[in-house]
Amino acid sequence: MRRHKEIGQILICVVIGLVIGTSLGVLGHFFSPTQPEETAVVSPPTSNQVTFRAVGDILMEEGIYDYLGSDYDFQDYFTDALPYLTGDVMLMNQETIIGGDDQGVKKDNYVFNTPTRVADQLVDLGFNMVSLANNHCLDMGQSGLDHSLAYWQAQEGLITSGTYATPEDRQTPRILEKNGIRFGFLAYTTFTNKKWLEEDEMYKVGYSQALATRTFDEEHRAIIKQEVEALRPLCDVLVVSCHWGVEGSFEVADSQREMAAYLNELGVDMIIGTHPHVMQPCEWIEDPESGHRTFVAYSLGNFISSDADVDAGEASGDAYSLSGILGMTITKEENGISMEDITYTPLVNHFTAEHTDYHLYPIALYNETLASQHARQPYSPSQFELAAIQDLILDVMDNGVVTLNMKGSAQDG
Ligand SMILES: [Zn+2]
Repeated sequence: MRRHKEIGQILICVVIGLVIGTSLGVLGHFFSPTQPEETAVVSPPTSNQVTFRAVGDILMEEGIYDYLGSDYDFQDYFTDALPYLTGDVMLMNQETIIGGDDQGVKKDNYVFNTPTRVADQLVDLGFNMVSLANNHCLDMGQSGLDHSLAYWQAQEGLITSGTYATPEDRQTPRILEKNGIRFGFLAYTTFTNKKWLEEDEMYKVGYSQALATRTFDEEHRAIIKQEVEALRPLCDVLVVSCHWGVEGSFEVADSQREMAAYLNELGVDMIIGTHPHVMQPCEWIEDPESGHRTFVAYSLGNFISSDADVDAGEASGDAYSLSGILGMTITKEENGISMEDITYTPLVNHFTAEHTDYHLYPIALYNETLASQHARQPYSPSQFELAAIQDLILDVMDNGVVTLNMKGSAQDG
């Protein structure tokens, strides 16, 4: 009897403890000092579902300016891709910095400055989640970094991540709320081409590696851990943009897998990769301990580019003009979120050797005549033949993780 009574008392204590603990947990969450009230971009909740889209690198190179003209107008360049660019949340990587029109347009020799008018048109397309962490973000010096941040942060309903004005700015959570779903956003790059930051200015760029050793070292693991853990309780979907991997490679590098596994372990929901300039596969990774799943698009390729003879004669050079729009439906459920209907709509960035006829074609609308006129044609191992580029897309992307929209309609995409 006495033994039973003791167990009863212990049980009562445990129950009371649980009730108090849970209440404190809830209160602690509500009164968290890091609630992002002033930084959140809030739209009226209409449902618990969001259409998400992501594209790769916005790489404004020399050739496309011949087409854009003096007012940098994309004209009908995006028209056929528009049905696939209808997301509530749309992510892109602004590879070439919007560094200020007073510094002039830079479009070659690996130093870039892109006109503000170009960015205006990307905003008009609906992009509202912009990664600024990439190897060109320091191309135009401090004034370029300042201009870029001022420009993007002035856009209503748009969030950025990856470069920062002050240490406080870096600590400010980036949250975009759509249809009652809060998206948290972080962005990292493995390196920058220019390296003019002093030791005490390193906060200005979200580096994921030590610049001296190019390794994912303890210091960067700790920084990323702190930033993910600060943001995780404030959002439903945590998205991380990673500028990483090997240029021109269809293979996912070990260093990409290492960082992806770490982000998965920390509870990140989605990783959008850029920088290789070609497509790389998508996959789900699962933490063996927690069971947490992370969707990883290792590289989405160049959304905009215009270099025809890059790596002339190699298949990866063909893929420099191919990319895709990632799409999915994200639903907030009682026990978390679901990411479903994941599609990849392959695109051909079309232009001629004379740098005319720039147009972004979903692969379903591309044809043999157009392929025979592509500027890539004389450099391509297959003469950029339609069947060959379709095969290339299937070879890299068709692993059962995403539905490839090779022929479908916008509803499929
Ligand atoms: Zn890059």
